[in-house]
Amino acid sequence: KIRTPWEGDAPAAEPSPSPAAAPLLRVESLTASYGHLEVLHDVDLTVSPGECVAIVGESGSGKSTLSRCLIGLHDDWHGTVALDGRPLAKSAADRGTAERRAMQYIFQNPYGSLNPRQDVGAILSTPLALFEGVTGAEARRRVVDALERVEMPARMAARYPSELSGGQRQRVAIARALLASPELLICDEVTSALDVLVQSAVIDLLRGLLRDGLGMIFVTHNLAVVRNIADRVVVVNRGTVVEHGGVDEVLDRPQDAYTRGLLANTL
Ligand code: ADP
Ligand code: MG
Repeated sequence: KIRTPWEGDAPAAEPSPSPAAAPLLRVESLTASYGHLEVLHDVDLTVSPGECVAIVGESGSGKSTLSRCLIGLHDDWHGTVALDGRPLAKSAADRGTAERRAMQYIFQNPYGSLNPRQDVGAILSTPLALFEGVTGAEARRRVVDALERVEMPARMAARYPSELSGGQRQRVAIARALLASPELLICDEVTSALDVLVQSAVIDLLRGLLRDGLGMIFVTHNLAVVRNIADRVVVVNRGTVVEHGGVDEVLDRPQDAYTRGLLANTL
């Protein structure tokens, strides 16, 4: 670990978790269906604080379904999903507010998730009022802080989603997620609709959040970005995990034919 001067002489707290510590998120034997159609089969997964686990696979392989099960938006599944060692109910409706806020989901097209009738300030402050009863000057301060964390100037609070670029909308979606003080961020194809330069800016931003200790699931069909963000990779083929391991291990020495095919097609 490289010590930066402003850390001083005191021994810095070790940010990476000890292997013995319980993971932030533990998924065991998750099997998910849409009625009679089973689309995820016995998926196992763990994420530790400060760790980014990429879920990769072709379109239709079940990545978004997995995200939606974790977040409680899809409840047709069995298995175990535990956050901080506590099993979660299948549906978000049956989870406590703290549990719901601890896991935040950002998906591909943030335009769909940002209310077009609200300006950015209202988009960011509405959940603050709703969940924390924070309004007025305190809410404005929190909104400006959140915008700062995603490297947007305070004046952006007056903009409407239609007046923002794709990358800016994605930043607002991230800022809104951060205002919930989550422990885990699930990013579902968040960079897929962005051009390459904007992609890398958003990736840099997400890497900063990982350094702050957030756990992350980074869902993508684009293996090229995985190396820039993920610590570990889970490869899903038609709802089954076919390979998992460290990023270099999986991307440089893929053991599974499906992974080799993915790499051949996308890099
Ligand atoms: P990915 O995010 O990897 O592209 P999805 O999780 O969206 O994959 O889809 C996985 C499978 O589940 C696909 O076969 C898809 O057609 C099916 N599926 C997704 N959403 C629904 C739905 N609402 N009803 C029925 N089948 C669905
Ligand atoms: Mg998807």
